[in-house]
Parts: sequence; C-alpha cells; structure tokens
Amino acid sequence: MLIQAGSLLSMEGPPRSPAVVRIAGNQIAEVESAELRVKKKGEEPVLDLSRFVLLPGFVNAHSHLELTAIGPIDGKPDFVSWIRQLVKKKTLLDPEEQKKGIREGVKKFINSGVTTIGDQISFNTEWEEITGSPLRGRLFGEVLGILPEICADIYSTFKQIKEQLSATDSLFKMHISPHSVYAVHPLVLEKILENEPPPLSCHLAESLAEEDYFKRKGGELMKFIQERGIDAPHQGISGLDVLFRLNLNLSSLMIVHGNYLNSSDQALIEKNNLSLVHCPGSHAYFGHRPFPLEKYLSCGFNVALGTDSLASNLKLDFLEELRLVKKTHPSLSASTILEMATLTGAKALKMENQIGSITPGKKADMIGFKWDGKTAPEDIVLKADQVDFVMIDGKIVRYLDGEQFVRNLNS
Ligand SMILES: [Zn+2]
Repeated sequence: MLIQAGSLLSMEGPPRSPAVVRIAGNQIAEVESAELRVKKKGEEPVLDLSRFVLLPGFVNAHSHLELTAIGPIDGKPDFVSWIRQLVKKKTLLDPEEQKKGIREGVKKFINSGVTTIGDQISFNTEWEEITGSPLRGRLFGEVLGILPEICADIYSTFKQIKEQLSATDSLFKMHISPHSVYAVHPLVLEKILENEPPPLSCHLAESLAEEDYFKRKGGELMKFIQERGIDAPHQGISGLDVLFRLNLNLSSLMIVHGNYLNSSDQALIEKNNLSLVHCPGSHAYFGHRPFPLEKYLSCGFNVALGTDSLASNLKLDFLEELRLVKKTHPSLSASTILEMATLTGAKALKMENQIGSITPGKKADMIGFKWDGKTAPEDIVLKADQVDFVMIDGKIVRYLDGEQFVRNLNS
C-alpha cells in the first residue's frame, strides 16, 4: 500500500511536504519524495492522506492500564495516603471491572495517537486484555513486596506469565521489573537486576516521601513499610544509591518519574546512559516540585513521556500530556516534544530498532492529523484534540472519514 502524506514528520530529518510511504505487510518499505506516487499509482492501493500530517505513533512509556477502572483518587492526597487508598481500591476491584477499564484505557490511548505502551502489571492483572489489544509494547511485571518470601513468590508468578505470553503472537513482550527500590527486598532486587533482560521499568525518586525514606530514614513511607513487620532493609541515600551500593549493573534500568533526583543520581544516569520517563499529568496531580526538563535535555538525558495511570492523572490522553509539557516548559520546541513522544520513547523501551520513526525496515506504526496545509505540521499535532488516523503493525485501527477506504481494503 502507498500512503500519500501532505506532510511527513519521520523523526529523521526535517519535515517532508509532501511525501509517500510504502507499506509492505507490517513494515515500512520505502519513504520517498512525492514523485513516487505518480510512477507507482495503480499498482497497489493508495491511501490519500494528502491533507494530513503523518508521523510515527506515540510511545507512552509508562502506564498502568489495570488501574483505569479505579479512576483518580479524590482529595489530592499526599503520596503515601494515595498508596494506601490505591491498595484498598485495587483489592476491591472486580476482574470484569478491571477488564472493562483496560479496554477503555486502550481506546483512550489509541484515540490520542498512542501505538506503543510500556505498561506495568501486577501478578494478578487480567494481562491478556492488554496483550490482545491492537497496541504494541512492553509489559512490565511489577515485582513488589518488602518481605522477601512474598516478593520471591510474585517474581516466580511473573516468570510463568512471561512464558505464557511468549507462546502467543501478541505484539507485547514481558519484562520482569522491580516496582521501585523501596518496595522490593534487596535480595530480590539483586536477582532481578542480575537476571532479567533490559529494559527494567522502576519507579525512582518519585516523591518527597521516598526522599524522606532513603535520606532521613523516616516519614510516612517508612511507617508504611514498618507496618509490614520488617525494619527498612535498604542501605543508601536514594533508590539508585541503594542499587549502586549493592554493586549491581544499573544499565538495564528505565527510571520512571525521577522527580527528586539528587546530583549523584544524575551522575549515575549520565554514566549508565539511563532513560527517564517523565509523566506530566501525574506530576501535576501530586503537585511535585518543578521538573527540570530543560536541564535534563541539555545534559543529553533520554527523557520519554508517560501518562501513568488514571489513579493519578485526570485523563488518559497522550495529546494532553504533550500540551502539558508545552505549558510547563514553553521554551521547548514542538519538534523536541514530538521527538520525546516518539523516538525517545522507543529508545527508553529499547524498541528503537522496531519503532519510533518512519524509516524503511521499521514496523508500520503511524498516526495522522488533518492539516490545513499552512500551519507548521508540528504545531498541528500539539493543537489537536484527537488523532484522525492510526495504523499499528500495518493495520488501520482508526481512520475518521475513511471507513469506506478501510472496507474496500479489507474486502
Ligand atoms: Zn507508575
């Protein structure tokens, strides 16, 4: 199939207006200047998106679809009260409600241009609802438990799920990861970091409560952990510092949040070339201190974007996350923000060989926005309140005004 695009933001080089992309199966076969369409028209189906801006699908590097049904926890609670309420609500959640929430979340992601996710799951999540969706991505099995035996049990459950998933033809791969450092016993942290292939998604330096726990050995998070009947077993002044002191290889980590990174954490990120996932909506929900995004980008950090879950975000709308970044960091250009939303996200999930740019050989995951032909293509994306075209793995999963084309294609 040939796709004629009004403007192509391939994430490799400047915009091309117009351009033609050839899809072969589930892959991008060719990306060319507009002349190709004249030569090859008539030989294969042509999808006319000449009034659209086309770009790679968005990568939402951090989500928890399983929490969609829970929704935002009311009352702007502090971080640890939020965890307490979340744990309670999660226990009461019926599996059918959870599945319904996952389906709604997937829909919200696709409608806002997300084609790949890095989604966290618990050991008892209805994960097949996620892997059976049209999306692509990583499924991060969150190992959680401060008591070593509980933690080890969850780890082995995830190993079974990983095996089950690898026997399917889903577009997801499972990566067993530590939920965080504070919530996992050091013995199990060691096992995961030594044995599990990258990327390992880990909540790190998320809240002031976490900072209090490591740095001052006190606060609400310390109380919460002590209630589990164990003395806080971690040695170090931050989550990353604990792992460093255990002499573990940090290079597999993908740091989620990083709202309160100290200078030695930042040095470890630089040394190990670690990716960070910033979650603008969740950051605003908790009212964390301003995120030093400009500084991190100028240091060369790979900063991707995530929605986090609906339990700590008012919407599951990736376009809203892009607008939030622009609002809180107005000096960033639209093209920098779009790169964070695509190629950088792909690098964070270690999927840049498959997705993140419109490049021959990569998977055909693309999104399109209607375009007036005048406005800068990048600006159209940041102003849009929905996506008009979505293709994942070479299949059209959303095409407003193009149902007839899709019907003809499938007939
Ligand atoms: Zn999270």
